[in-house]
Amino acid sequence: MTDCLVVGAGIIGIACGLELLKRGKSVLILDENPPGSMTSAGNAGGLGITEVMPIASPGVTWRVPGWLFDPYGPLAIKWSHLPGMIPWLWHFHRQSSFANMTANATALSELLSACMGDTRALLKQTGLSHALTENGALTVFPSAASFDRNQLEWRVKKENGIEATRVDSLAVHDLEPNLRNVHSGWFTPAWCNVRDPLALATSLADFFLSSGGLIRREKVVKLERDQNQIRSLLTANGTEYQAGQYVIAAGIWSKSLCHQLGEKVIIESERGYNTTLPDPGLEIGREIIFGEEKFVASTIGSKLRIGGAAEFAGIDTPPNYKRSDRLLSIALRYLPELNSKGRENWMGHRPSTPDSLPVICASSKVNNVLYAFGHGHLGLTMAATTARLIANLSNAESASINLRPCHIDRFN
Ligand SMILES: Cc1cc2nc3c(=O)[nH]c(=O)nc-3n(C[C@H](O)[C@H](O)[C@H](O)COP(=O)(O)OP(=O)(O)OC[C@H]3O[C@@H](n4cnc5c(N)ncnc54)[C@H](O)[C@@H]3O)c2cc1C
Repeated sequence: MTDCLVVGAGIIGIACGLELLKRGKSVLILDENPPGSMTSAGNAGGLGITEVMPIASPGVTWRVPGWLFDPYGPLAIKWSHLPGMIPWLWHFHRQSSFANMTANATALSELLSACMGDTRALLKQTGLSHALTENGALTVFPSAASFDRNQLEWRVKKENGIEATRVDSLAVHDLEPNLRNVHSGWFTPAWCNVRDPLALATSLADFFLSSGGLIRREKVVKLERDQNQIRSLLTANGTEYQAGQYVIAAGIWSKSLCHQLGEKVIIESERGYNTTLPDPGLEIGREIIFGEEKFVASTIGSKLRIGGAAEFAGIDTPPNYKRSDRLLSIALRYLPELNSKGRENWMGHRPSTPDSLPVICASSKVNNVLYAFGHGHLGLTMAATTARLIANLSNAESASINLRPCHIDRFN
């Protein structure tokens, strides 16, 4: 019998599979889709270890109505999806108090401070260290008012030990000569990027396979329970798989698997969009974060990707690529020389919890299931650390990080 069966071959499931394999376990990953091809394929490639600010914060709540009434603003909710989202919104509202924001920032900071070490170790182990670029990130604002509106985030970052240098428009120009219409910003040197998130996930999956791991293209439809443990998983093809331990790492789709176990989990798909320009006509030296409009530009191989937006419309609603168009039109204000010919649009499902913290824990309902999902905006960033923590839980070892804030029972 397989020691560990991982459901989901996104960046989280692959990283977990590799770490469990490294600890001497036999590992099978089940996924109906090719490794890394869902949310993990099209992200911005940022290792955002400086992003300790949870999204729920006192400032955000006040800005939500304005965003919602802008048809292509950074935040959108499909009105027919609203009733089903009420529990998530209620938790989000509660998490946005100053006290909860501070506690969530501390928990995020603890997780994120481990991420570069774990990511470097994972890349070294798999011979992929060259996949990393280490040029920091530049967050820019179009006006003094915009810079001031975002002060709380930078205060929280400083309080959590994030190194950030304030830059005026001249310094911004020195760092990124192609940028226009910027008043000021922050430079965060610790931020890193991967050159191509899909290529990274694929290479990690290849390494997993060549190291003895197994991946099968199957969709898990049922968790067969036997008293206080899972006996087997049933797939859409009717195949039954048994393992000593099961890891649910299925991104946003983990929600329905958890529900089968009677586990309460408050998570929504925060749909994000991007557009990738194959021949952008200019280079940027590092990831650029547009702090007012909440989107980013990053280099993906020889291409340039512009991505962001948060749309709550469930899993099944078709993408509305006008959001990608909007991101491009704002980006052109800052980078007017961009060539958008041949661009490709994409949408992915960020698995987002109301407190911006992932779910990394043992199940509270059965004793042979571990959870690794809910990484929201930071799944790539946290993949290697999540994998190490899951391996700790799998071996009943104590973790170096306080995992209490990441427990699934916080939603009860
Ligand atoms: C626009 C955008 C930009 C982003 N930028 C960044 C960034 O710069 N840095 C960062 O750290 N993060 C970023 N993210 C977030 C990041 O992409 C996600 O947090 C991460 O990809 C989640 O990985 P995952 O493995 O949990 O989920 P996924 O990649 O979605 O993988 C889940 C897998 O589970 C499989 N699955 C689902 N149900 C089943 C089932 N029943 N049986 C078998 N398999 C199943 C799916 O097929 C899928 O392959 C961004 C996201 C978006 C949308």
